[in-house]
Amino acid sequence: MIAKVITDISLDREFDYLVPEALTKVVRTGSAVTVPFGRSVRTGYVLGLAETSAYDPARLRYLTGIAADRPAIPENLIKLGKWIAEYYCASGEHAIRTLLPAAIRSGRVREKKIRLYSIADLTAAEKYIIDHAKETRLAKRVKVLQMLIRKGEGPKAEFATEVDFSASAFDALCKDGLIKVREEAAANDFDNGMETLPDTPLEPTADQRKALQQISDMLEKKTPSHVQLLFGTTNSGKTEVYLQAISKVLNMGKSAIVLVPEISLTPQTVRRFRARFGKKLSVLHSRLSDRERFDEWNRINSGKVQIAVGARSALFAPFDNLGLIVVDEEHDSSYKQSESPRYHARDVAVVRAKLENACVILGSATPSAESLYNAQNGKFLMCRMAAQVDNKPAPVIHIVDRRRDPAPTEGMSNLLSPILIHAVEERLERAEQAILFLNRRGYARTLCCPQCGYEARCPECSINYNYTYSRSREVLSCHLCGGVVPAPSACPDCGFQEIRYFGSGTEKLESCARAVFPGARIGRMDSDLMRSADDYEVVLDKFRRGRLDILVGTQMIAKGLHFPGVTLVGVVNADLGLSMPDFRAQERTFQMLTQVAGRAGRGERRGEVIFQTTRDSDVLRFAADLDFEGFSKFDLEFREMLGYPPFTRLIAIFFKGEKESAVADYAAFFAEKLAAYQHDKVRITPPAPAPVEKIRNQFRYMMTVRGNGLKTIREAIRILALHHTPPNGVSVAVDVDAQHLM
Ligand code: ADP
Ligand code: ZN
Repeated sequence: MIAKVITDISLDREFDYLVPEALTKVVRTGSAVTVPFGRSVRTGYVLGLAETSAYDPARLRYLTGIAADRPAIPENLIKLGKWIAEYYCASGEHAIRTLLPAAIRSGRVREKKIRLYSIADLTAAEKYIIDHAKETRLAKRVKVLQMLIRKGEGPKAEFATEVDFSASAFDALCKDGLIKVREEAAANDFDNGMETLPDTPLEPTADQRKALQQISDMLEKKTPSHVQLLFGTTNSGKTEVYLQAISKVLNMGKSAIVLVPEISLTPQTVRRFRARFGKKLSVLHSRLSDRERFDEWNRINSGKVQIAVGARSALFAPFDNLGLIVVDEEHDSSYKQSESPRYHARDVAVVRAKLENACVILGSATPSAESLYNAQNGKFLMCRMAAQVDNKPAPVIHIVDRRRDPAPTEGMSNLLSPILIHAVEERLERAEQAILFLNRRGYARTLCCPQCGYEARCPECSINYNYTYSRSREVLSCHLCGGVVPAPSACPDCGFQEIRYFGSGTEKLESCARAVFPGARIGRMDSDLMRSADDYEVVLDKFRRGRLDILVGTQMIAKGLHFPGVTLVGVVNADLGLSMPDFRAQERTFQMLTQVAGRAGRGERRGEVIFQTTRDSDVLRFAADLDFEGFSKFDLEFREMLGYPPFTRLIAIFFKGEKESAVADYAAFFAEKLAAYQHDKVRITPPAPAPVEKIRNQFRYMMTVRGNGLKTIREAIRILALHHTPPNGVSVAVDVDAQHLM
């Protein structure tokens, strides 16, 4: 018998090994085995078994044994992994790697506690970066600090995969006290130590009954599709549908996976599942220790639990009798992985379910264009839940055109229109709460000199992106590379003293709100401040308990959070996302606006929402009317006209490297190779500098391939990207179904 084995090192190749007679009964697809490789012994996974090999039988070697410290990968997941490698143009190793958590793969499971590393003191770290920016000897440490600032708190394993990571620099910084470490006890769940009272299913509403009937038919294979798009307004009771659908699946003796975006994996969500399913549930979140992850994986693999809830990677929970995968907020962009394999968890969920004869529920109040299109074409079942469970009226939404405002007399208040200020004041008088939303952190965006026109820019990154200025720390930081420099008080070019800051972020919004509403208790939430999950919970908890009147924040506060006291949401710059050079910009803006609007009026009183803008936009009008149907018709027409997904498939190919000419040359070479695969249904855009032209001194070029029937060209791209080594430090990244063309 021949075993086809893939080893840990990144070659996109399977190697054939003979299976010793004694092991033929134990070696199967997915087994972890040890194999001789050159002069060493490596561990690998069996991807398949065969009777014969295409290689010279005289030169085949025997595999040496089963790797005792590692579990086998279930055969169903191996199949899925192969599909991922092919479809997403990823190497076999990368695909296999995503199937198993690192702790399981390496057999490292002694850790009972999780060690979380973070910047000890932001000001000190920034000072260090500024002071040592030019010293090559300390360059690695500076890079590690920048990376930590960028990424926030996390376990070492999370950082070790970053290009800027250096173990020696990391350890040295820990020793010097610039990086601090915190041990978190084995808190197996978010809800540990929390009272979770068991609850029982609610009597379904008419909409819910209709949805559950369709799901029931789907589970019994009476429907033409195994995927349901559950298009339900916020508060229409989707979660209750998931819960009851899962109960049904369990009664059928099967298991279920629930995917949620990482940000909504909060105690609130987990508690509802825990209350209904108790010990049948395994919660897979990013802060499990190796030991906990190992334990959870084994609990699932051995059938001790029937439900797994988690972010993207929970999709690979090793159930062998899967009945249902729920993808909540299916439109959420966090389902797309940004590193290889660049898979989309929603799409892979549909494939996994197909392979394993299971079903999928895709839930959203603002479905993606892709899913809507699939529902319209009959590829998915569609179920609409339009009514809110409690019949709460939708919030009242106004668009305030700032161009009609009286000219601002004082600089500070120009972020808030008189109408918004008045609305907030009303809330303060009535002891209600307000949210002010601005999807940009920091104090200002651009530092300009009005005398000579000097504009501060990160020297390492694209000229299209300027620094974020933090006034409290007096630094400019680059959101692309994490680089920091002291903020100049005079123009570095001409010495002019009255240098100006343009554009604004949440930090400025906060100080503006403090000035306009003296006496109000104001809190802020953005990634600048929230360095750990704890910080996040503290602010939310204060707000929820009514200890804050106004919450200022970015995207972080937009999703899924429930604050009964909030009756007003002000979106400071509602058209902000529309100028992005990306065909999904409209969709993202619409989703973001309706999501933020949904934060108003979750309690007793009717909510009010104000969108401030400085332009005319159909997208804003559809959002203000909460007219999803209107918007999606408009957006789909736009995409069809331009030949974008979902009417086509799109593959983006990125090239990067330190020498621009080398990057351009290689991109041109790549494009030339692909030209042979062009046919009338495929459109190839020639390589050009990407909208973000440079990150961390790496020049970036991009080309796209879109059309229908991309299989052949995709295979060609995969081979080129994986089996052809570009010269001169150039690297290639392929993003199939890319979500961002930046
Ligand atoms: P969604 O997930 O669509 O936002 P939820 O499932 O969270 O909606 O439901 C919104 C609220 O309505 C929750 O507080 C939930 O407990 C309640 N709810 C849902 N279904 C019912 C029902 N059938 N009867 C009574 N209350 C319900
Ligand atoms: Zn930069």
